[in-house]
Amino acid sequence: MLVWFAVTAAVMLAAVWLAERPGTLTAEWRGWRLDTSVGVLFIAVLLLMLAGIALWLFYRWIVGAPGALLDGWGESRRRRGYRELTQGLAAVAAGDGVEAQRHARKAEQLLAEPALTLLLSAQAAQLTDDRDGARQAFQAMLKDEQMAFLGLRGLIAQCLHDGSQAQALAYAERAFELRPQTPWVVHSLFDMQAQIGRWQAAQATLETGLRTKVVTQNKGRTLKALLLVERSRAAERDGKDGDALGLAREAFGLAPERIAVTRRLAEAQLKAGDSRRAMRTIERGWALAPHPDLAEAYLKASGEPDPLKRVAVARKLADQKPEDIESQLALAQASLDAGLWGEARRYLQAAGGASPSARVCRLMAEVEERAHSEQAKVHEWLARAANAPADKAWRCSACGAHHETWRSVCESCGAFGTLHWRAPGSYGHVLPPEPQPAPVLTTTALPGG
Ligand SMILES: [Zn+2]
Repeated sequence: MLVWFAVTAAVMLAAVWLAERPGTLTAEWRGWRLDTSVGVLFIAVLLLMLAGIALWLFYRWIVGAPGALLDGWGESRRRRGYRELTQGLAAVAAGDGVEAQRHARKAEQLLAEPALTLLLSAQAAQLTDDRDGARQAFQAMLKDEQMAFLGLRGLIAQCLHDGSQAQALAYAERAFELRPQTPWVVHSLFDMQAQIGRWQAAQATLETGLRTKVVTQNKGRTLKALLLVERSRAAERDGKDGDALGLAREAFGLAPERIAVTRRLAEAQLKAGDSRRAMRTIERGWALAPHPDLAEAYLKASGEPDPLKRVAVARKLADQKPEDIESQLALAQASLDAGLWGEARRYLQAAGGASPSARVCRLMAEVEERAHSEQAKVHEWLARAANAPADKAWRCSACGAHHETWRSVCESCGAFGTLHWRAPGSYGHVLPPEPQPAPVLTTTALPGG
């Protein structure tokens, strides 16, 4: 405003100055003649300058307009695309797959962001049970560097759900290459390799897990020992007894507290003809974790045929952990086999205490039967066995499933190394629940731990 005032004032002053000093100007050009005053020329020059500025501004406006117009159009398109995306995600969260798919299709048309719209499409497809659609979306994600990992996770979950183990393993291997430090990748790949008996590959995965601290040292130690047990068994099947013994010894060095480890080494040593070493192995294992199978293997290793002398052998083993119920039961069984009814009853009473377990009751019934006691006594023990508290058994710490014999992979949930010799309910709710992955990945529970 002030500027305009100053400019106007200057122009007026100049006009007055020019009017006070009149002068004429004459120009001649090819027969044309122009006579004018200096004031008029001054005003003409000023008008020309203003017209020039106006023309320049007009030109700028003409050139810039289409770009600005396009920009505005693209911006509104993007905004609409993101709105579709947001509404789609909201529909997924609300569990409305059809609605989510509708928004996903619109977002796809409006946005040039395949990564974002693919994720929405995959989730929408999963919600509507459109397995082909979900698989296509996951596979399309593999082409995008940033989305490939998520796509692999979706594909692994889908393959596991469909029971295509081999394909799931191939995808898990790719995911492991991309991110070997991600816990679920390490755990799933390890479990898959173990499930199909690729012990050495599983061991390599485990070593990576230990290096990246995805697996704790203690857990890694026992898992490795159990893998070595399996490798030792496989070596024995292949006729490589020397390797089998070496692997079993390595396993025992890592986790002598695992019954399967002790048993494997004792078996390998017995096969190598070293029964004294086998017995020492079982004694060391018994002190840490006694088990009926170990008692049986111990008596076998002793090679003692005389039932009465076998009681003395059993006592030597029981002395490694005298207060344990398994020690009492091993002595009771040996006494029963030797026909020492009184001894057998005494050990069983010690093992059973106030509320004898089903196994103790059944053994009591057997003692009374073989000792030719009254039938009423036998029936009483059998009746008590039916209502007695359950015994220790091979139970999976991941799913709680019960197994007759030990195996490295749980038949029920496929977890590796989770079978322990325990009483029911000894886990209870101690184990924390598995963390729930994002909705896109819930088609299967990826085993953890
Ligand atoms: Zn299980």
